[in-house]
Amino acid sequence: MNSLPPALQELIAAFAKLPGVGKKTATRLAFHLLSQGRQEGLELSKAILRVKEEIRFCSICFNFTEIDPCPICRDPGRNDKQICVVEDPQTILMLEKTNEYRGRYHVLGGVISPLDGVGPEQLRIKELLRRLGGVEEIIIALTPSTEGEATSIYLAKLIKPQGIRISRLARGIPLGSSLEFVDELTLGKALQARDEL
Ligand SMILES: [Zn+2]
Repeated sequence: MNSLPPALQELIAAFAKLPGVGKKTATRLAFHLLSQGRQEGLELSKAILRVKEEIRFCSICFNFTEIDPCPICRDPGRNDKQICVVEDPQTILMLEKTNEYRGRYHVLGGVISPLDGVGPEQLRIKELLRRLGGVEEIIIALTPSTEGEATSIYLAKLIKPQGIRISRLARGIPLGSSLEFVDELTLGKALQARDEL
C-alpha cells in the first residue's frame, strides 16, 4: 500500500518517465522539490511550460527553435552545398561544438526501425529530398547501430543516383554507442575523416 499523498505519487511517476531516471531518483527529486520553497517549484514548472509553448521545429531543417527558420538555416555564412543528416536536434548541438562543420543540417526525427514500427515514411526523408537542389554532399551522422546503418544505406540509395556525394562520419566511434556520449574531439575527427558511402 502506497502511503504517499497522491499528488506526490503523481510527481514521482512523472519524473520516472524521464530518460535515465529510475524510481529511486524520481522519488529523491520529488522530495527535494517538496522541501524547497514555492518559488523553486514555480520556476521549474514555468521553464517546462515555456519550452513547450515557445519552442517549435524549424520548418527547413527540423531543429528546435524559437524563431522559424532557425538561426543555422538563417545564417548566410554557412555552406548550402553540404547537408549533415542527424537523428535528433541534440546531435546538432554536439556537432556545432566541434567547430568542424559549417554546412546545413537536417533532422530526420529517428532512424528506420521496423521493430519499433518506424518506417521511412515516419521520418523526414521526403523533406530532405526536397532540399537537394544545389547540394553537393550529404553527410550522414546517425548513431552507428544496425538501425542507423540501415537508414544510411536507404538514404544513399535514394540520393546517390542524383549525383550527390554521400559520406558518413568515420569510424572510431564504438559501434552501437549513441553519438550523445562521444566527446567533441572524437566527433570532430570523425567529421574530418569521413568515408564515402
Ligand atoms: Zn533550421
